[in-house]
Amino acid sequence: MGEKYLLTKDNLTAWISQLQQHGRLIAPVMRADELRYDYADGAREVVLGQHNTRRSAKWVFFPQHEVLLRYGKRLDDYSQITDTVIDNTPQVLLGVTPCDARSFVMLDRIFGQGTCQDPYYCARRANTLVIACACAHPTSTCFCNAFGSGPADSTGADVLLYPVDGDYVVELVSDAGKQIGLDWHLPLANEAAIERAEAITAAAAERLQPIELTAGIEQDLAGLFESGLWREVAEKCIACGTCTYNCPECHCFNIVDSELASGGARLRGWDACMFPQFTAQASGYNPRPDQASRWRQRVMHKFSYLPANVGLFGCVGCGRCIVSCPVRLDIRQVLQRVHQEALTRAAAAPGKEG
Ligand code: SF4
Ligand code: SF4
Repeated sequence: MGEKYLLTKDNLTAWISQLQQHGRLIAPVMRADELRYDYADGAREVVLGQHNTRRSAKWVFFPQHEVLLRYGKRLDDYSQITDTVIDNTPQVLLGVTPCDARSFVMLDRIFGQGTCQDPYYCARRANTLVIACACAHPTSTCFCNAFGSGPADSTGADVLLYPVDGDYVVELVSDAGKQIGLDWHLPLANEAAIERAEAITAAAAERLQPIELTAGIEQDLAGLFESGLWREVAEKCIACGTCTYNCPECHCFNIVDSELASGGARLRGWDACMFPQFTAQASGYNPRPDQASRWRQRVMHKFSYLPANVGLFGCVGCGRCIVSCPVRLDIRQVLQRVHQEALTRAAAAPGKEG
């Protein structure tokens, strides 16, 4: 951990103005009575240190809809690409929660690494400074602790702010954060401020319910592909897709061409495994024909396939899917049910009787 600096409430407005010199400001703001990440005009709009927004910040790097390219048409030749839209605008994403910052690490593995990198995602990510704000007020649906994280986790952030009674202790985390931090000329935080910051986040960590969800989950899931528990879990689900759209980690998308006589545009938009059409094939066959198989996919993808393929869970415990599900399906209970089912099966396995 590097040196920590002090940002007082008196200097906050000027500091946010400095950030705006660096790039377009995106922060938690109130819009239509809802706290959300959005473009902000300046300090008077920014709401720091509150609970999680309903929607995550993933749209900053992976928008809900975007134009990938435009093309012209000459006779039957559609191959005249006229415009590829890569957004290189410098941005500052201020005030994300630690769980949202952490989610970017998984998105980086999907879109930003390996042989198939997404230039649209990578450009936005490379041009955005991420300033997270430690959580002082976790809610009853937060369970970042189940993933070894916590209210002061700096993973995925360039800078981490610790709220201290209206002031902030500032930790410069990444090389980019350390570089830009030089321009801020903030004074070093004194011992008292650092201790207070640590006490606030330690108290926040204590308010999280102790929860054990992930130990052995991949092994638990291994034998449950054909289990009846998925039907039981999915019984109430209305396939609205809200859980996946609000999730910071869900990253499925669809690409379509929107065509006019003179050409068209190739569009990308979020898609979701909870939708019946997601895996429907042109022949009419659907390999996931019911909501039980879609729920199984959601859980298997997050807790089995992603750990195996990219080394990370597809969940950071933000709790958004729990808060926003209209029928109150709770992924924590589903994981507990998975564990129970695996235990029951293990107990009933040959050689375990009596
Ligand atoms: S699955 Fe639910 S709790 Fe986990 S990251 Fe997604 S929205 Fe948050
Ligand atoms: S939000 Fe709830 S009802 Fe909607 S798809 Fe997700 S689990 Fe099903």
